[in-house]
Amino acid sequence: MQNTSASSAQGEGRPGARPEDVAGAAPGRGPRAAGARRGRPRAVVIGSGFGGLAAAVRLGVRGYEVTVVEKLDAPGGRAYVHRQDGFTFDAGPTVITAPFLLEELWQLCGRRMADDIDLRPVTPFYRIRFHDGATFDYTGDAAAMRAEVARLSPGDVEGYERFVRKSEAIFRVGFEELAHVPFGSWIDMARIVPDMVRLESYRTVYGLVARHVKDDRLRQVLSFHPLLVGGNPFSTTSIYSLIAFLERNWGVHFPMGGTGALVKGLVSLVEGLGGAVRCGAEVRRVAVERGRARGVELASGERIEADVVVSNADSAWTYRHLVPPEARRRWTDRRIERQRYSMSLFVWYFGVRRRYPDVAHHTILLGPRYKALLDDIFQRHVLADDFSLYLHRPTATDPALAPPGCDAFYVLSPVPNLQSGTDWPATQERYRRAISALLEATLLPGLEGALATSRLLTPQDFQDRLLSFRGAAFGPEPVLTQSAFFRPHNASEDVEHLYLVGAGTHPGAGLPGVLSSARVLDRVVPDASAFR
Ligand SMILES: Cc1cc2nc3c(=O)[nH]c(=O)nc-3n(C[C@H](O)[C@H](O)[C@H](O)COP(=O)(O)OP(=O)(O)OC[C@H]3O[C@@H](n4cnc5c(N)ncnc54)[C@H](O)[C@@H]3O)c2cc1C
Repeated sequence: MQNTSASSAQGEGRPGARPEDVAGAAPGRGPRAAGARRGRPRAVVIGSGFGGLAAAVRLGVRGYEVTVVEKLDAPGGRAYVHRQDGFTFDAGPTVITAPFLLEELWQLCGRRMADDIDLRPVTPFYRIRFHDGATFDYTGDAAAMRAEVARLSPGDVEGYERFVRKSEAIFRVGFEELAHVPFGSWIDMARIVPDMVRLESYRTVYGLVARHVKDDRLRQVLSFHPLLVGGNPFSTTSIYSLIAFLERNWGVHFPMGGTGALVKGLVSLVEGLGGAVRCGAEVRRVAVERGRARGVELASGERIEADVVVSNADSAWTYRHLVPPEARRRWTDRRIERQRYSMSLFVWYFGVRRRYPDVAHHTILLGPRYKALLDDIFQRHVLADDFSLYLHRPTATDPALAPPGCDAFYVLSPVPNLQSGTDWPATQERYRRAISALLEATLLPGLEGALATSRLLTPQDFQDRLLSFRGAAFGPEPVLTQSAFFRPHNASEDVEHLYLVGAGTHPGAGLPGVLSSARVLDRVVPDASAFR
C-alpha cells in the first residue's frame, strides 16, 4: 500500500512531499538527513484509542509500517470492552455521531464500513428527564423538536429555530474549516479570528443558548453538549454549539455488537494494511536523540525503533512522563501543572435479571442544580451529594449485549478530577449506592434486587489504568484559551517527528474530535516517500 491514497482521497494530495514542505521538519534536520533506510518507514503509535487506531490506519495507507503499542490487554482505550457474566459493556463512547469520519477510514482502505459494521440510527437521541419527572425527547426531526420546544415553552420556538441556524453557521466554520487544520503557528490562529468574532466564539455555550431561549429547562436541554467532551457549558466556547447541528444533520448511531465492534473493525483495517496492534505493551519513554524522536522504550525494556512516533496517550501524561524533561522547552512540568483539566467521570456498569422496556437507549437525568453543580465539579473541585446522570441502555438497540431476558446498563456521573482529593476507593460504594437509590426511585424500580453483575470506573482508574493526568476523563478542559493553537499541537512543539493524536490535542475530545485529530496528521506527518 503506497502513500498516495490517503492524500488524494481528501484532496490534500501531497505525494512525494519534500520534508521542508512539511510542518515540523526543520531544514537540514529532515527525514533524509536522519538516514534513509530500505523498505517502508516505520511508525509507532502509543495507545489504541479511536484516535490512535485512526492514525494507524491513515499512516498505513500512506505507506508506513505501523505498530500500535497498547498498555492494556485489549484495544480501544476509553472504548475498551468489558465482558462479564454474559453481559457486554462498552466502557466509554456510546453516542456515535459523524459516521462519515469512520466511513472515510474504511474508504481509504478500499473497503466499505457497512460490510463490517451494522450501524443503527438511535431515536430519540436523548430522553432528558428533569428533576420534577417531566421529560423532553431530543431528536433530529425538525417538526418533532419544534413540538417538544412548544410543549415546554411556547414562547421560545422562534428563538430555538434561530439557535439551530446559528449552530449550523458555527458548524460550517468550526468543524468544516477548522477541525482538520493543524494549528501550528500564530498565523493559523490569526486567520480564524474574524470568523470567531462573527460567530461570537467569545461567548460560552450557555451564554449563546441564553441569548436565544428564555426557559430555564430549555436552556439546559440546549447547552449540555459540552459535557460530552469534558467541558463546562458555562465556560466552554460557543464553538461547541456545533455539536447540535452535527447530531441533527447526521444523526446519533449505535453499532450492533456495541462500540467495541467499531474498535474491532479499526483493528482489522490496521492489520489489513500490514500493521500490528500489540496489547500489554506499555511505553515507558519516547526515545529522543538530538531533539528528534527515534522510537519508544517499553516497560519490559524492549526498544522499538521508528521514524515517526505518534502518541495517543494523554497529552499531559505524554510530556510529563514519556518525554525526557531535557527535551521539553514548551511543555515543562510547570506548564503542564498550570493547564486546566476537564472533569472526570464515575461510571457504574451493571446488568440486571429483568428488562426495563420503557427506558430509552440514552437518558439524561438532570438533577436539582445545574450551574451550581457544574461549579462544584469544574471550579470548586468538590464531590457534591447530588448529581446529574447519563443512563445508557444498549440493550434497547441490541438485546444480544445481555443474556436473554436481561438488560445491560451503564450510568455515568460527571465528577471533579483528582484535584478534589477524593479518596475514591473509600467513597465509591457509598456513591454507587446513592446513584442506585436515585435510579430505583425514578426509572429502574427494583434495581438492587435484580442486579446480576456490576463494575465501577472512578477518576482514580482514569489516572492509574488509562494514565490520564489528574484522572481527567477528556484531557485539557476545552476552553478558548486551551483550544486550537493553545492546545498541545498535533506536531510536537518540543520534539521533531513526535506527533499527538486524540483527546488531548487539537481539535479535542469525543469521537468526532479524535478522529479529526488523526486527519490533521495527514497534514503534518511527512509522506512515507520522504524517508526512502
Ligand atoms: C465514559 C465515557 C463516555 C464517553 N461517551 C462518549 C460518547 O458517547 N460519544 C463520544 O463521541 N465520545 C464519548 N466519550 C469521549 C471519547 O470516548 C474519548 O474522547 C475518546 O474515545 C478518546 O480517544 P483517544 O483517541 O483520545 O484515546 P483513549 O481512548 O484515551 O486511548 C488512549 C490509549 O492509550 C493507552 N496508553 C496510555 N499511555 C500509554 C503508554 N504509556 N503505553 C501504551 N499505551 C498507553 C491507554 O491505555 C489507552 O488505551 C466518552 C468518554 C468516556 C470516558
